Amino acid sequence: MIGKKLVVGILAHVDAGKTTLAEGILYLAGGIRKRGRVDHGDAFLDTHELERARGITIFSKQAEVVLRSGEQELAMTLLDTPGHVDFSAEMERTLQVLDAAILVISGADGVQGHVETLWKLLKRYQIPVFLFVNKMDQPGTDKDALLAELKSKLDDNCVDFTYAPLLGEPMEVPETEGAKDVGKKAFTEGSDINGQEKEAFQEGYEQFSEAVAMCSEELMEQYLEAGEVEQENLKSAIAERKLFPCYFGSALKLTGIGEFLAGIVEYSTLPEYEQEFAARVYKISRDNTGNRLTHLKVTGGALRVKQVIGEEKADQVRIYSGTGYQLTEVAEAGSICAVTGLADTFCGQGLGAESEGELPSLVPVLNYRIELPGGCDVHKMLKNLYQLEEEIPELHIVWREQSSEIHAQVMGEVQVEIVKDIIEKRFGVSVEFGSGSIVYKETILEPMEGIGHFEPLRHYAEVHLLLEPGEVGSGLVFEAACSEDELDKNWQRLILTHLEEKKHVGVLTGSEITDLKITLIAGRAHLKHTEGGDFRQATYRAVRHGLKRARCQLLEPVYEYQLEIPTECVGRAMNDIQRMHGTFEDPETLGEMSVLRGTAPVVNMNGYQSEVNAYARGRGRLTCRFQCYAPCHNEAEIIEAYGYDSEHDLENPTGSVFCAHGAGFVVNWQEVEHYAHVESGWCGFAGEELSSQAENDEFVGGGSYQDKFISQEEIEEIFERTYGNKAKDKNPWNRPVRSTISAPVREVTYNPKKQEKLKEYLLVDGYNIIFAWEDLKKLAKVNVESARSKLMDILSNSQGYVKNTLIVVFDAYKVKGNPGSVAKYHNIYVVYTKEAETADQYIEKTVHEIGRKYHVTVATSDALEQMIIWGQGATRLSAQGLKAEIEAYNKERQEEWKAQNPGERYFPFEELLKGEEE
Ligand code: GDP
Ligand code: MG
Repeated sequence: MIGKKLVVGILAHVDAGKTTLAEGILYLAGGIRKRGRVDHGDAFLDTHELERARGITIFSKQAEVVLRSGEQELAMTLLDTPGHVDFSAEMERTLQVLDAAILVISGADGVQGHVETLWKLLKRYQIPVFLFVNKMDQPGTDKDALLAELKSKLDDNCVDFTYAPLLGEPMEVPETEGAKDVGKKAFTEGSDINGQEKEAFQEGYEQFSEAVAMCSEELMEQYLEAGEVEQENLKSAIAERKLFPCYFGSALKLTGIGEFLAGIVEYSTLPEYEQEFAARVYKISRDNTGNRLTHLKVTGGALRVKQVIGEEKADQVRIYSGTGYQLTEVAEAGSICAVTGLADTFCGQGLGAESEGELPSLVPVLNYRIELPGGCDVHKMLKNLYQLEEEIPELHIVWREQSSEIHAQVMGEVQVEIVKDIIEKRFGVSVEFGSGSIVYKETILEPMEGIGHFEPLRHYAEVHLLLEPGEVGSGLVFEAACSEDELDKNWQRLILTHLEEKKHVGVLTGSEITDLKITLIAGRAHLKHTEGGDFRQATYRAVRHGLKRARCQLLEPVYEYQLEIPTECVGRAMNDIQRMHGTFEDPETLGEMSVLRGTAPVVNMNGYQSEVNAYARGRGRLTCRFQCYAPCHNEAEIIEAYGYDSEHDLENPTGSVFCAHGAGFVVNWQEVEHYAHVESGWCGFAGEELSSQAENDEFVGGGSYQDKFISQEEIEEIFERTYGNKAKDKNPWNRPVRSTISAPVREVTYNPKKQEKLKEYLLVDGYNIIFAWEDLKKLAKVNVESARSKLMDILSNSQGYVKNTLIVVFDAYKVKGNPGSVAKYHNIYVVYTKEAETADQYIEKTVHEIGRKYHVTVATSDALEQMIIWGQGATRLSAQGLKAEIEAYNKERQEEWKAQNPGERYFPFEELLKGEEE
C-alpha cells in the first residue's frame, strides 16, 4: 500500500520567516484566500491568541494543502513548529511523524545557533530535508556565501537546486500580489528573456549536475556514464539524506516559492505503509471546549471512527487545518489527525503495530517552584497542572510532599511567561514562578545488581535488575534477559512496564536517574500470592537497591556555547570561562571580532550574557545550546545543599519486605542480598558474602546471637560421623600435608538484628568447577591431575575467606575397587567418591545428612544438582560466584600484604591459575 500524503514539517530559528513561508505556501496552494501576516497578527497557523499577540509560534499546527508541478499533484500535511528554543521540545515531538522537513534559513543571518540543533535533530530522526534560504530580498544577502556556509556548518551535500530540472511548471503567484519577479527569473542576471538568460540556465544546470554527482558514488557513476543524473536517483538520494536540496527566495515577496514547492512535489518520496493499523501519538491538546485531543499520524492501515484503541474508543477523527477541522470517517495511513475520546494516550506513544517513540533529546534544565496565590486550592491546582503536563510533558510537574511545593521544569524564561499565561487563561489562577534552579540528574559509575523483594503476608514478588552505566545522553534503556522458565513472560513484561512508568530517583539528591541500562536478570513470582502491584514494589525497590550499592555520580546540564566578542576581550572571556569550569577551543579571530567556542555548566553560564554586555560594551553575543548531562563540577557541594537522605525517602524505599512466620518485615538495603530467594548468577561485584538462605525460616527467626567456637577435635568428630574415619588420612596424591586447619570454626545461631550470615560447610563439586573455570578447563585437557591439584591449591589458599570447613569432592566412580577416601590437604578436605558413586550423589547425601544441623553451601554450576540442593535447604553458589568470591578475598589479602610488605611480590589468584607451581 502506498501512502498518498506527505507529512512535511517546517522548522527554523525564530524569526527566519517560517510562519511567513507557511502562509505563502497556503496562499499559493490555494489553502487560504487571503494571505495572513505575522506582523498583522492574523497568520493562519498562529492560531493561539498568545501566538498572535506575541507574533511567535508556540504550538505546532497543521494545514492541508495540495501542491502542484504541472500535472503532478502532491497532497501534503504541513506542520508548523515553534522556532524559539524554549519551545523546541514541542518541535521535537513533531519530528517523530515527519516524512520530510522544510528548513528555513534566514538569508540575512545565515546559519544561526538553533539551526545547528535542528540539523542534529533531523539527523537523529533521519528526516529528508529541503532547505529554503529566505529573506533574499534584503540587500546584502549573498547566495554563494550562504551556500558555502550551509555546506560547512550543516552538510557538504547541500546543493543549490535553483537550476534543478522540473518536469512540470511551478505554481504561479496570482497577479493581485503584485509580485513580478517570480521564479527562476528572479535570480538570473537580466530580466529579459533572451540568449543571455538561456546561457545562464545552461551553465547553472551544468554546475548543478556536477554538484549532485559529488554527493554519492551512485550519483557520480550515473553522471559519468550519462552526463546527467536521473530524477529517480535524485529522489532516492534525498530520501536517504545523501543530498539536501537548497532553494533561495523571499517568503514575504513570494519569490522562489513556486520553484521550491515544485521541487518538493517532484523530488520527495512518499512513504510506504503496512496494512495493519499503526499510529504514532505526537501531541496532546485541548480544543476550545475542553475536549482532549490526541494528535497522531496513522502509520499503518487506517483509523476509523469508533475504532477501539487500547481500552478506549476513538470518538471523532478530525483533520485540522488552521483552527478549523473536518470530521472524517476514516483516516488512511499517512494522515495526521486529531482524535477525541481517548484519555490515556501520551506523547510519543505507539498505537497498534507502532513501536514506542524515541526519548526526547531536548530537555529542560531549569526547575522552578510554582507559587500559588493565597487561598488557591493546592490540590486542585496540582490536578490542573498535571493536565497541562499531558500537553507539555517537559514540564515534569512534581509535588514535593515535605515542603508542600509544586515544581515544574521549563526550557527558559519565555516558556515561563507562556505557561503562566496559559494557566491564567485556562484555570483562572495567576501563578508566579520562583527563581529557577538547575535540574540535576544522577547516574552510576559501575555495573551493579539491584534486588527488590516484596512479600507481606499473601503477597510475593522478587526482582533482580542489573544496572549498568549507559552512554551520555542515552537516557534509560530497559531490557529483559531472564529465562522464561524462571519467570513467566507476562511477569517480565509487567516488570518492564514498572521500570518505564516511573521517574526513578537517585540516592544522592533524589534527582531523576539517567544514562543507565537496566536489565531484568532474574525474578520470582508465587503461583498463588503474586499480584500485579507486588512486582511494582519489588521493581522500584530493586532499582533503588542497585543505586544504593553502586558508586553514583551527580550530573549537571552543560551548555555548548559560542561567544562572539571584540578581540581585545578574549583574554578576559577565557578567564571567565575557566572560572566557570568551562572549556574552550582556540579562539577564532576575524579582525576586530573573535569567536570562542566550548562547553560550560549551565548553572554558571546563566546570567553570563549580562556580564558580556558590560565588558564588551554591547558588542558581545553569547549563544548557548544544551549539550548534555555531564559529571557535576561541584558534586559534593550540591549533595550537601540538597541534604537528601535516601534511606528516609519513604516514597522511594531502598530496602525490601520479606516474610517470616506469617508476617512481613522490612530488611534494609545492606541485608537484602542475604535474604533474596533467587540467585541471578551475576557476580560482578567483589567482596560480598555468599548468597541467600532466606527460605530457611530459622535464618530470620528469633534466638540470641552466639558466636561459639568449636575445637579441632569436634570438627574431626563431625567428620568421622559424616564420612567414617577409615580413609581420613589417606593421601592419594602423595603430596606432603603441610598444615592442618588452624582457624577455629565458628558455629552461629542467627539473630535477626545482626543478620550476619556464616557458612559452616562449603562443598565444592571438584570437576564441575574445573570445567567451569576457563583456565582450569584448559589445564585439565592436558592433564587432569594437575588441574585437580591446582584447584585444591586455590581452595586451600583461599580457605580463609569461607571461615569454615571446605570440602572438595571429586568423582572416582570409574576407579575399580575404589573404596572412596577423605583426606586433608592443608586446610581443606578432599573427598574421592567410592566406586559407582558420583560427586553429585555424594554431595546430595552429605547435604541430606548434615544439612539440617549445619548450614551447607554447595559450589557447582550443575543445574540439576542445584535444584536438589535447594530442595534440601542448602545454599548454592555458582562456579563464577565462587571464583568472584575467591578473587575478592585474594584482592583484599593482596592489599593487606602490600601494605605490610612494601616492594615485595604477591601471588594473586590469577597467577595461581596460570600455573605458578611452587
Ligand atoms: P518565524 O519566527 O520564523 O515564524 O518568522 P516570521 O514568519 O514570524 O517572520 C519574522 C519576521 O521576518 C516578520 O517580521 C516577517 O515579516 C519577516 N519576514 C519573513 N519573511 C521575510 C522575507 O522574505 N523578507 C523580509 N524582508 N522579511 C521577511
Ligand atoms: Mg512563526
